[in-house]
Amino acid sequence: MSEEKKALNFIEHIVEEDLSNGFPKEQLRFRFPPEPNGYLHIGHASSICLNFGLGLRYNSPVNLRFDDTNPIKEEKEFVDAIKRDVEWLGYVWENECYASDYFQQLYDWAVQLIKNGKAYVDSQSSEDMASQKGTPTEPGVNSPFRDRSIEENLQLFEGMKEGKYAEGSHVLRAKIDMTASNMLMRDPIMYRILHRPHHRTNTDWCIYPMYDWTHGESDYIEQVSHSLCTLEFAPHRELYDWFLDQVVAKEKLRPKQREFARRNLSHTVVSKRKLLQLVEQNVVKGWDDPRMPTISGLRRRGYTAESIRNFADTIGIAKRENLVDVSLLEFHVREHLNKIAPRVMAVLNPVKVVIANYPKENTEWLKAENNPEDESAGDREVPFSRELYIEQEDFKEEANRKFFRLKLGGEVRLKNGYIIKAESCTKDKDGNITEIQCTYDPKSKSGSGTEESLRKVKGTLHWVSVPHAIPVEVRLYDRLFTDEAPDSHKDKEFMDFVNPDSLRVITAFAEPSLKEAQVEDHFQFQRLGYFNIDVDSSPGKLVFNRTVPLRDTWAKIQEKA
Ligand code: ATP
Ligand code: MG
Repeated sequence: MSEEKKALNFIEHIVEEDLSNGFPKEQLRFRFPPEPNGYLHIGHASSICLNFGLGLRYNSPVNLRFDDTNPIKEEKEFVDAIKRDVEWLGYVWENECYASDYFQQLYDWAVQLIKNGKAYVDSQSSEDMASQKGTPTEPGVNSPFRDRSIEENLQLFEGMKEGKYAEGSHVLRAKIDMTASNMLMRDPIMYRILHRPHHRTNTDWCIYPMYDWTHGESDYIEQVSHSLCTLEFAPHRELYDWFLDQVVAKEKLRPKQREFARRNLSHTVVSKRKLLQLVEQNVVKGWDDPRMPTISGLRRRGYTAESIRNFADTIGIAKRENLVDVSLLEFHVREHLNKIAPRVMAVLNPVKVVIANYPKENTEWLKAENNPEDESAGDREVPFSRELYIEQEDFKEEANRKFFRLKLGGEVRLKNGYIIKAESCTKDKDGNITEIQCTYDPKSKSGSGTEESLRKVKGTLHWVSVPHAIPVEVRLYDRLFTDEAPDSHKDKEFMDFVNPDSLRVITAFAEPSLKEAQVEDHFQFQRLGYFNIDVDSSPGKLVFNRTVPLRDTWAKIQEKA
């Protein structure tokens, strides 16, 4: 859909209103402001699509700004992963910015605030400060250090910067109002001492600015017109504006903050802190584990950027939080992969079929269409021989009329090939079927033009030729959490709902054309689902991830439960 034709979301309405009130269109500017303390997740995708979508709609610049004010939790690895993911999603940022690049400017402004009597150094313990904070219904109490002289404040603040003091000994606070009804306005902390090296500024600084002080001023420095953030920042807006009041010059653009609802996805968690826990406690194998709701995990799982963008577009932007069902995300990846993924045959749970009337030494190469949805995808050839694998589930000795697969005395068509009939089967001592003896109809080959080649039988099965099949590792994923909203329970931890069976690894048999496949290539394994090649693959050993099964089986399992 073109950007113009879509219905406007409420943020776009706000921008439209500003434009109609005379705001110059060429001054529109947006930013996506991740904190580099983890990998981006599917919730962030909504924010990315919103901000960069606005950029595309209005042809305005969008900055990628790292909100890197906490050296304890932030790392270069995360910066790199975030850049990779935003790029992969298909967006181009104007400038790569870092809040840490503004540390000097922020410091200078803080000094200005002190000089204007708007900030002071507090030397109490954090416990004492907390005890003076009050409650939503009771006012706070002024700090005994609130009325320090400007000179003393300047000296102390400089000493903090020079590294003269221990962590926790002093903080810089804005001097606003300890009786304000908005508790965030009760002399919020602007700076704290941290003797920690920063991934960009190294040991240049040992005082670090707090989020509230940093964010709005960074928006102002970059001249961001609309600073969009999630709802939990709504009460911060008053402070955002107060901090801007202290620095904004009349002739410059004054950014404005607006809020939208966080997106939550069912059967998972979208919080970097919680995702970090999954990584650190080895519930998953890393941030890009294909079970993770991170952009990197989804990519590795076989999601396409287009499917994630379409998902974000469909759910849109909301004013209130709600839970989006993960099956909607799966719907979008199926829809996209259906168009682009070549069809191939692979058997996950093999049982051997021997075609008694087929010559032992023969191999035939049958023509197979790569993608019925895409004519340009062409054909390939798949080998057919006397011994084949089919899925165990596709054969029953006896079954009712509704079973359209193979049963004794019954016929099915082999995809791209012949009609076969099951004559007998062999079992091991536990009663498991080890081999099915069949006969084939030599005139029934698909596409051969004979009358028999058009003969309709109820079922069509996928298969592979035993001597030609390549064994591959297949990783079958299920929901990472058994509960729809694992982090919404008051009496239980989200970790209590981890699905112990979220990963099953099997050896499957695939048609030999897959030998040429490359990492990240997508395929539809016919009748089974969408799969892609994992980075763990090595020459001679392919590893596949199941992106999604062909149909949404989870819904059915839930119904039965
Ligand atoms: P987390 O709780 O996962 O750490 P965060 O909000 O602390 O998330 P940031 O890196 O600060 O993560 O987020 C960057 C931007 O993405 C912010 O504007 C934030 O509001 C937005 N964002 C984060 N999570 C979501 C979400 N679930 N849905 C929509 N937007 C989100
Ligand atoms: Mg954050």
